[in-house]
Amino acid sequence: MAEMNPFKIAQQQLDEAAAKLGLDTATHELLRWPMKEFHFTLPVKMDTGKTRVFHAYRVQYNAARGPTKGGIRWHPDETIDTVRALAAWMTWKCAVVNIPLGGGKGGIICNPKELSETEKERLARTYIRAVARELGVHKDVPAPDVYTTPQIMAWMMDEYEVIVGHSHPGVITGKPLPLGGSEGRGDATARGGIYTVREAAAKINLDPAKATYAIQGFGNAGQYAATLHQEVLRGGKLLAVSDSAGGVYAKGGLDPQAIVKYKLETGRVSGFPGTTPISNADLLELDVDILYPAALEGVITGANANNIKAKLICELANGPTTPDADAILHKKGILVLPDFMANAGGVTVSYLEQVQNTYNYYWSIEAVYSQLDRHMTDAFNAVWKTREQAKVHMRLAAYMVSVARVAEACKLRGWV
Ligand code: NAD
Repeated sequence: MAEMNPFKIAQQQLDEAAAKLGLDTATHELLRWPMKEFHFTLPVKMDTGKTRVFHAYRVQYNAARGPTKGGIRWHPDETIDTVRALAAWMTWKCAVVNIPLGGGKGGIICNPKELSETEKERLARTYIRAVARELGVHKDVPAPDVYTTPQIMAWMMDEYEVIVGHSHPGVITGKPLPLGGSEGRGDATARGGIYTVREAAAKINLDPAKATYAIQGFGNAGQYAATLHQEVLRGGKLLAVSDSAGGVYAKGGLDPQAIVKYKLETGRVSGFPGTTPISNADLLELDVDILYPAALEGVITGANANNIKAKLICELANGPTTPDADAILHKKGILVLPDFMANAGGVTVSYLEQVQNTYNYYWSIEAVYSQLDRHMTDAFNAVWKTREQAKVHMRLAAYMVSVARVAEACKLRGWV
């Protein structure tokens, strides 16, 4: 049976890139494991006055290229292996967009939907008290992730500053704007993905202004992709969108602004006037030029990859394509912009937030967009070049670029 442990998958992906690169044994072994990880047991007072005990982690995967960076997830199903895998992927993500950071990730096993605001605040502050000695702009910089918000980042930053006794906003990113957040962070993931679509479309002679597109998942990434495709690429026809409750299709095209407004008002996309229902499975197989998976992992598999008709897939979601599907898509000539490159816009603007915090000087939104564009375009070009030279699919090419960069940093430091 296929190995589903995410950390084992991350190691297998690395193994493939290491083999292609001819990486020496020591470097390969070093990159297969987190360099540091912390396990915490956190006692937190609930509103009832009783104490509940939470288990939490922080993994600093590899710091060869700079301080580690990565979000903190609050999830009931969190495991050390999920956090390790996500920390590994952050390492490759920061490397592919060439920002001077390593990869890290944190997690607390909890169900935030069962916690009051005051309990969340106490949990956030307790976590920071446990991990504070390991954090800082020169060590490790967390950010929001699944079920953590700018408000939680604000509490965490405040607790950290109380502990160190001075202002240190760069210790965490994804903060609210009045506390040193960056302009442009809200739509950064989708915007970064759209920049890579622009570059990729030019390579395969696809005019994105005339292209049709469909989006699976209509949250932060999906909604911004809907509107930014038309804004940044100056056109395109949105044929279908979906969320967990189902999807909608319109042959003549959907108005992205109107469907975003409808989703925000009603909490769903189904029932949007002038559309017919479409299932999530059918949306993926729709006859469109560009497909944006922006919901879940594992949706394009060996079972449906042969039916995909899009020419270009921009993976805004993490892990939407399984390895067997990758091989099929490659064979069919479908170009896939792999997740850790296509959705790296979020971490790129997080990095820009940290730079602004360190300067204590804040840029205009245009300046942020232009830096984001440069990082995403350079990443795409580096991966494309490797794809052409090594004759591999885009995901393996992206791994090769990232792993080679991290390996070089390890070597220059004399670690291997
Ligand atoms: P979100 O929670 O804002 O939105 C998720 C959307 O997916 C929702 O519309 C939800 O209804 C939909 N969804 C859930 N189950 C579904 C299903 N079975 N079929 C179809 N749709 C379904 O999340 P987000 O921040 O937009 O993240 C989406 C993906 O992008 C995730 O894989 C996430 O890891 C990835 N990502 C997001 C960011 C970011 O900055 N937001 C950065 C990097 C990667």
